[in-house]
Amino acid sequence: MISSLQELVFDNRLVRELPADPELENYRRQVTNAVYSRVTPTPVKNPQLIAGASEVAALLDLPATVFSDPQFAQVFGGNELLAGMDPHACVYGGHQFGNWAGQLGDGRAINLGEVRNHQGDHWTLQLKGAGPTPYSRTADGLAVLRSSVREFLCSEAMHHLGVPTTRALSLVSSGEMVRRDMFYDGNPQLEPGAIVCRVAPTFTRFGNFEIFSARNDIVLLKQFTDFTLRTDFSELFPAATSEFGKADYLHWFNEICIRTAQLMAHWMRVGFVHGVMNTDNMSILGLTIDYGPYGWLEGYDQDWTPNTTDAQGRRYRYGNQPRVALWNLAQLGNAIYPLINEVEPLQAALENYRVEYERCAQRDAAAKLGLKEFDPAQDQTLTEQLLAFLPLIETDMTIFYRNLAQLNVDDIPHYADARCVDIVRESFYSTPDEHIETHLANWMRAYAARLQQDYVLTGNTHAQKVARMNAVNPKYVLRNYLAQQAIDKATLGDYSEVEKLLNILRKPYDEQPEHQDYFVKRPEWARHKAGCSMLSCSS
Ligand code: AMP
Ligand code: MG
Repeated sequence: MISSLQELVFDNRLVRELPADPELENYRRQVTNAVYSRVTPTPVKNPQLIAGASEVAALLDLPATVFSDPQFAQVFGGNELLAGMDPHACVYGGHQFGNWAGQLGDGRAINLGEVRNHQGDHWTLQLKGAGPTPYSRTADGLAVLRSSVREFLCSEAMHHLGVPTTRALSLVSSGEMVRRDMFYDGNPQLEPGAIVCRVAPTFTRFGNFEIFSARNDIVLLKQFTDFTLRTDFSELFPAATSEFGKADYLHWFNEICIRTAQLMAHWMRVGFVHGVMNTDNMSILGLTIDYGPYGWLEGYDQDWTPNTTDAQGRRYRYGNQPRVALWNLAQLGNAIYPLINEVEPLQAALENYRVEYERCAQRDAAAKLGLKEFDPAQDQTLTEQLLAFLPLIETDMTIFYRNLAQLNVDDIPHYADARCVDIVRESFYSTPDEHIETHLANWMRAYAARLQQDYVLTGNTHAQKVARMNAVNPKYVLRNYLAQQAIDKATLGDYSEVEKLLNILRKPYDEQPEHQDYFVKRPEWARHKAGCSMLSCSS
């Protein structure tokens, strides 16, 4: 542990080892022959700390007391640099909604530098919303409080759910107002501005590789890829060579496919919908990155998307995420093709994505039902029947699975239909009719018989089954309306709900009976309310 910000050790490998844009003037432009541009955060009027995550401070070897240091808000609001910081923004491109969009880049993200902690781990600190960069295009480089609260809370909630993600160290208000047309209807409003400090081993995206490839800059593509293999995937290449070849690139691409498959399975398991799975929002490390118009499934619906910009095509709907990830991986495969010059092994890696996703999805399907293992002969049908049932009556996914754990196989044979359904009744948004009740009760009987068989075969007990289910079916997720309530309060200067949510979401699988009121369905008022059921990209 160190005791103050001044003691942070920076080891800025990216800026040191990769080509910089020679232009130091901060104006919007195309940047070629470089990986990044040096740019300093724009100072703000009155930076104030809203919330901090002590677990993330600990990754940097910092104690939680650092949040009460008056210098903290100055640094993480963008007003002051610490010795060793070397702020910069990276160039990247991307496919947005299926179309190549050209140069994008860190338009409102500024990397401050890479902290090296006592274990030798590197953590890049990145301010989001700290002012324009050469990549800001027509936008202002800023972020508003509402989207920053959402990013801060969801990053940490995902981590505690066991989902790979970029982290959030802090949320700082800027003391300035930012103009946003939230509904894109010609009615811009002034909203409070804020800055999140994100933390990750690297923020490199698929789009970082795509831009060099699209520009046919194979030298830079290779240089950047080699750097990534050396620094961010060193565990894959322990015999630290400086020269990588085709086999290494394939090994690496395969690893990205595997990690991305695992990430998709996690999202599907917890009911997370990213909302903007463009290739520039896909982390090379398989982390959840760029929390924009994301949402959490409340009523189980494969077709649901929280993003109003995607309401027509629904490309990024819940049930489509695993397919989109594969499409995105194929774009990455195309981008690095010049380093490999062979199609088949890239396709084989994409096939490994499919296999790994299927493996994880089956493992999770079994675990969500408390089964020790997925037996395709029986459990394929059992799972399909359940997932076909859930949308027949609007069913809260989180509450359904959590309460289903209470099902006791000894009771089910003695229960009438309605009594079976009582176990999960709380999860329905409307009253099920008799037909629905019979349908579900029959499924529960088949499920109970399957569990019984599992107990006999594996020696599993009811208590073990409940524990297994509760370890993968969270009780507390960042429901869209809960985030909005925290935002509404924060907009009035009361940050208590941000703090409270952060606390509850630290232990999403624990019962926390004192917070039972956070384990309830979305209230009716939130069904169509902006921020609760639908979100625009405006942030
Ligand atoms: P997103 O879809 O939010 O991940 O953003 C796509 C691109 O737009 C990225 O290059 C962002 O850096 C950029 N961008 C988004 N919002 C802003 C903003 N307010 N100012 C500057 N650039 C932005
Ligand atoms: Mg983005």
